[in-house]
Amino acid sequence: MPFTAPKGTYDVLPPDSAWFLAVRDALVAPARRAGYGYLETPAFEETGLFERGVGESTDVVTKEMYTFADKGGRSLTLRPEGTASVVRAVTEHGLERGQLPVKVFYAGPMFRYERPQSGRFRQFQQVGVEALGLDDPALDAEIVALAVHAFAELGLTEVRLLLNSIGDGACRPAYVEQLRQFLRTVSAELDPDTRQRVELNSLRVLDDKRPEVQERLADAPLITDHLCPGCQEHYDAVRGHLGDLGIVWTETPRLVRGLDYYRRTTFELQHAGLGAQSAVGGGGRYDGLSEDIGGPPLPGIGWALGIERTLLALDAEGVRPAVPARCQVFVVPLGAEAKRAALRLADDLRGRGVAADLAYGNRGLKGAMKAADRSGASYAVVLGDRDLAAGVGQLKDLTSGKQHAVALADIGAEIACRLGGQP
Ligand code: AMP
Repeated sequence: MPFTAPKGTYDVLPPDSAWFLAVRDALVAPARRAGYGYLETPAFEETGLFERGVGESTDVVTKEMYTFADKGGRSLTLRPEGTASVVRAVTEHGLERGQLPVKVFYAGPMFRYERPQSGRFRQFQQVGVEALGLDDPALDAEIVALAVHAFAELGLTEVRLLLNSIGDGACRPAYVEQLRQFLRTVSAELDPDTRQRVELNSLRVLDDKRPEVQERLADAPLITDHLCPGCQEHYDAVRGHLGDLGIVWTETPRLVRGLDYYRRTTFELQHAGLGAQSAVGGGGRYDGLSEDIGGPPLPGIGWALGIERTLLALDAEGVRPAVPARCQVFVVPLGAEAKRAALRLADDLRGRGVAADLAYGNRGLKGAMKAADRSGASYAVVLGDRDLAAGVGQLKDLTSGKQHAVALADIGAEIACRLGGQP
């Protein structure tokens, strides 16, 4: 086979794909219980949406976007993140004119041309939530709590919440100028790329994970010392609510995150067992993003969590989420007549909510019983010609190995009853 999956992508295959689905569902379960409704946007958008929404000086826009011209000459981009699309969809359809906040969640692939490594892909899967239309600090606390609960419900205990406020249009520009002045005093010791970033997007320099850069930043001014009264009050209120909810966090005044649209509350969730790519999720408030993309004023806050890294975190902690059984009953027909009865029985069981499969092909008893074992089923039903003539099947408990004859007319109900399905 000359073809392989493109660099930085991967296939999700059974049986492990069951973990993938379980994680995806579990991560949004707390949000669904909090009234967040599913929203789906296209996998590609007009390029300008991300240029203006994510920010033209960000790495995502300058280096990582999959941008192409379609056959009609439009410039389109595979979505590198979900928030800009959600804000576009919400305002395009006027959802903000209804009940506020607009609460939505999404799930799906995102695309970034990054250097692949463990926990970093070019096509990766996120789930996300957004709450739009209000700048109530209680909503910030709800959003943060939903992310914390998402990981906790999966059984993860080593996820750490980092929290910061990065100010707003009233206080951040003056702070960024001070930061730039400071960075210029150390810029001789920085590499050319970072020196350029000092001028283009000083805040992002704080986000540089390299120890040699972090060392130079020891005396950098901190945004939390420069918040305007409005932002200070907002941040205090968010922390008050988080305290009420029993959420534990680490104040991280250098946390800025990679996308330009964040204002005030920003947060990241990290897992210590993941090496360099330790962020399992992140988010923040993005009041102003809607105007940036030409929409009405629309405050908002949200997060995105990475499914691949959550799976790695589960591995690191040795935790496995519960997944539905792939097969509970495996039917083994011996002969053509029995095959017809087996197909009917499996169909009947599935209709009763029981996961059932049968031995296809004509592999004989030994091969079929091996398939039954491999299927993970708790029961097998063996249908031989003699059984069939007597109107029975042999119900075998695959754990104990015990087997007894059950009338074919009753077998579906009996199995469903034993497995707790519908008799
Ligand atoms: P971001 O949209 O950059 O705030 O990322 C939110 C989360 O998505 C991160 O915390 C990661 O868990 C995940 N993520 C971001 N980029 C990648 C990537 N290239 N590969 C895998 N996961 C990613």
